[in-house]
Amino acid sequence: MAQTHFGYEQVDEQDKTQRVRGVFDSVARRYDLMNDLLSFGMHRAWKAYTVTAAAPKRGDRVLDVAGGTGDLARAFARKVGDEGLVVHTDINAAMLSAGRDRLLDEGLALPTAVCDAEKLPFPDGSFDIASVAFGLRNMTHKEAALAEMARVLRRGGRLVVLEFSKIAEPLRKPYDWYSFKVMPLIGKLVARDADSYRYLAESIRMHPDQATLKAMMKDAGFGHVDVHNLAAGGVALHVGIKC
Ligand code: SAM
Repeated sequence: MAQTHFGYEQVDEQDKTQRVRGVFDSVARRYDLMNDLLSFGMHRAWKAYTVTAAAPKRGDRVLDVAGGTGDLARAFARKVGDEGLVVHTDINAAMLSAGRDRLLDEGLALPTAVCDAEKLPFPDGSFDIASVAFGLRNMTHKEAALAEMARVLRRGGRLVVLEFSKIAEPLRKPYDWYSFKVMPLIGKLVARDADSYRYLAESIRMHPDQATLKAMMKDAGFGHVDVHNLAAGGVALHVGIKC
């Protein structure tokens, strides 16, 4: 059985999928509150920037992959209007249903699908925009997921990948302290789950840096890829145009 990493641990590929599911089953209920606490609310600005960079027009078809509790799906839905389409997807039913409930409470009924980013159940060329926010890091075969997102986009379509990335060197030490000491502690106190937030810190360190992810996106079929560093590189937005 092929091996991969789950945070800093080496695990069988199948185990990684199960353990990632366990993390998001555990945090789904407190996910939005934890996002606000751990990022000091900044995830809202990063997501707004992502939607602006994706430049959706009225009538566009958008696929939100690993959409979780639906922040991007909601913002895209407002931009594309009733004549457009936003499909909200995630591999984890608990995250997706927390998101669907929240969107319904806000009067938005979007098509949802539980699906694996590595095997998307949509025809070739069916979307103008695909997005994945803080999801790619958790995927076992990132190349396969990027290739799938390229496949379902039309030519000239755009993929936006918002993800943790490599922070500028002067901030590395304080950021390590925050990630490995403070985040698991807040996870323990608020979500009653320190381990999931330890995994978060480790998975960020194991994720490809800005240049590596850019190269991976080019290999997956994105002819042009722009990188926007946010939060001193602690978060990066990659925007790829399918050629
Ligand atoms: N996009 C949302 C946001 O930015 O708030 C949720 C991000 S959450 C940190 C990561 C999400 O990725 C989880 O909901 C998880 O279930 C999903 N995920 C992990 N592996 C996946 C896969 N292979 N395919 C689809 N979704 C996946």
